[in-house]
Amino acid sequence: MAEALNLPKGELMKGKKGLIMGVANHNSIAWGIACQLAAQGAELAFSYIEAMEKRVRPLGEQIGVKTFIPAEVTDDASMDAAFAQLKTEFGEIDFLVHAIAFSDKNELRGSFVENTTRENFLRSMDISAFSFVDCARRAQALMPNGGSMITLTYLGSERVIPNYNVMGVCKAALEAATRYIARDLGPQKIRVNAISAGAIRTLSLAGIQDGRRMIAQGRQFSALKEDTSVEGVAGCALWLLSDLGRSTTGEVVHVDAGFHMIGLPEELGEGA
Ligand code: NAD
Repeated sequence: MAEALNLPKGELMKGKKGLIMGVANHNSIAWGIACQLAAQGAELAFSYIEAMEKRVRPLGEQIGVKTFIPAEVTDDASMDAAFAQLKTEFGEIDFLVHAIAFSDKNELRGSFVENTTRENFLRSMDISAFSFVDCARRAQALMPNGGSMITLTYLGSERVIPNYNVMGVCKAALEAATRYIARDLGPQKIRVNAISAGAIRTLSLAGIQDGRRMIAQGRQFSALKEDTSVEGVAGCALWLLSDLGRSTTGEVVHVDAGFHMIGLPEELGEGA
């Protein structure tokens, strides 16, 4: 069984409770974030889709999670039950981590304009963008004293990344939704931000054609010349979800070793 990430212990999240949505296995970005929050004293609930329960429970138990909640984001009855269970077991919460996305992998390849069907476009948008709006609305009802929410996005929202296709459109919607939710919930002292992570080897990435190339080129052309680490993403999550991030909301923070800001990589600069 995978070990929990070995992270320094602290108390930045002591006394805070929250929901982690999107752990599928030990490679999941949500798992890295959960380890970081637990190491800083947070009390966590994990949601999962039924097919992942066998993997998710033993992982959560490693870091002291006792509350496991089935939640299928396309199903209103499932979401009603999930947030009812969260309310019963936690009462109020302080934070929400949304790390959920899905698209048919047959449409994460080749031509966007040729390969995108109405059915998969709508399903991808539902799971990858609308679900954050829905979860945020439900979670804010459990945050009477304010709170913090994050979602996970990718550079394919801003720039054309080969094969990312419909997921890029979903991430653009997700980032815009982040700003609108942040505006709406700001008066309730709830902060809402997105982390734009560089490519990391997970189940989701495996669904994208040439996902490995996204990682390799991220490393080659990033300012830091290294892979994006899940620890780096988790560190940013800790900042945004703890009181350290108290004045930041409606932001999309890039955690990608500085890949997003390179216009023309030096390696391609001379007559390539
Ligand atoms: P992952 O496959 O480990 O996580 C995706 C999660 O989405 C899984 O836990 C899965 O169960 C959940 N999910 C899918 N459909 C669902 C549904 N209908 N209802 C409820 N949950 C559902 O992969 P990951 O890379 O950790 O992805 C987490 C987030 O990070 C996603 O939003 C992804 O787009 C984003 N992201 C990933 C990368 C990367 O390179 N891996 C980079 C930037 C952003």
